[in-house]
Amino acid sequence: MNVISLTYQSANYYLIPSNDGWIMIDTGWPDTLSQLLQLLNQNNIAVNEVNYMIITHYHPGHAGLAQNLKDLGTNLILHESQLAYYNRLNLLYKKNPQAHFRDITSSNNTVLTDADSSSFFKSIGIDAKLISTPGHSDDSISLVISNECAFIGDLMPLPLQEENRNIVIEDSWDHIREFHVKTIYPGHGDPFKL
Ligand SMILES: [Zn+2]
Ligand SMILES: [Zn+2]
Repeated sequence: MNVISLTYQSANYYLIPSNDGWIMIDTGWPDTLSQLLQLLNQNNIAVNEVNYMIITHYHPGHAGLAQNLKDLGTNLILHESQLAYYNRLNLLYKKNPQAHFRDITSSNNTVLTDADSSSFFKSIGIDAKLISTPGHSDDSISLVISNECAFIGDLMPLPLQEENRNIVIEDSWDHIREFHVKTIYPGHGDPFKL
């Protein structure tokens, strides 16, 4: 799979191709649309070719431009476990209006469950699934591409010390491993091998 990695202010965005345009994973900070458009331009991608977007979790450095991209025609794909969360980000920025955050609306969103996400991705030519991988936050999800890679947002690595074990994080990694992925694309920092 041809994964395009873009980084701005330590936030990674990724693009993967589908039969129906590009899928973007995470969108970085609010008020950085011009920088995002510039990064896309440097990769010869027009924003109207980005047909889908997935947000690994609704924290500011990951979902900041979600509505800006929706306004430009990108479809927001949500995992059902995230439905209660994008409005929390809206509320956070109500207290911080100078950030020029655009409220994420409920219109033009596609909501997928673990069960129906694979048929959705199959319809656009990708053997992928959207799975709930809590640990960093309850709304954290991963896009897993079987036998290839996973986009995990801010899921923490497994702690080395036994006393720091965290069963929620371990379960999320176990779930990701079921798909035999080889490369992990995190929300911050460089990709690594699993
Ligand atoms: Zn986060
Ligand atoms: Zn983050």
